[in-house]
Amino acid sequence: MTFAGAGLDRAAGERGRPEWVRARREEPEARALLLSERGVWMEDGRLLLVRPDDGAVFLGLASGVPVFAAHLGDEAPAHGTPAGLREAATELPADDAALAAYAASLLGWHRRHRFCANCGQPTEPRDAGHERYCPACGTHHFPRTDPVVIVRVTDGLRLLLGRKAAWPERRYSVLAGYVEPGEALEDAVRREIREEAGVEVLSTSYLASQPWPFPSSLMLGFHAHAAGGEPRPNDVELADVRWFEAAEVEAAAAESGEVFLPPPFTIARRLIDGWLATAAQASGRPG
Ligand SMILES: [Zn+2]
Repeated sequence: MTFAGAGLDRAAGERGRPEWVRARREEPEARALLLSERGVWMEDGRLLLVRPDDGAVFLGLASGVPVFAAHLGDEAPAHGTPAGLREAATELPADDAALAAYAASLLGWHRRHRFCANCGQPTEPRDAGHERYCPACGTHHFPRTDPVVIVRVTDGLRLLLGRKAAWPERRYSVLAGYVEPGEALEDAVRREIREEAGVEVLSTSYLASQPWPFPSSLMLGFHAHAAGGEPRPNDVELADVRWFEAAEVEAAAAESGEVFLPPPFTIARRLIDGWLATAAQASGRPG
């Protein structure tokens, strides 16, 4: 899954000791990837890697090599080219894309949490960049990950897809929404599908997840079977929602149909492609 599996040893037991982090930073092989307002910096189809400076956060050890990340703000390095994360996801090898997503989520959190949410005073980084601490009131702040359920709803033969008003014309995808306080994931699945599409679901099952660094979500992929209700866009977010036959989705996947699907690096597309493969198997056609 794109953006997942950075495959690092995050060294959570050691990174809290500043002298240990300093020693890793000073290792000759230590490297830092760079982000700026313009995106993640690349060179020759890989991440641009430089010596880590004092402000870099520690990501982990890649086969023993210390990997850091730094944010340049509106500055630019001496070489390389910047790319947005969506573009980087399609151009970088999977392990580089995963590192870029991890770094973007962590560094973005630092940039948005420079002041204490409890007392308003400046906070300072701790734990090699995996915590911020407020010296004024003693509050510890930790990086956020926001859970989002993304749901493949089927009635057995058809797939439920919706189109957000803000999306390009004819782009359809599976439905998704943030988990709210006090909800189990299954509750969030039922509520989202009822709210957005007016469809009741039962027998939800978990399939897979994808870190989604825009800025720091975790997409939790579910399959759900529709129990009733005719789809109609209840939510102001959705311009349309309806059932799609397998043939219609297949044509869209082959980019020869009336509608467009999300790009291949997204969990949304993986859920849709997985359903197509099952539908093809059920009908005896090659998937
Ligand atoms: Zn405070």
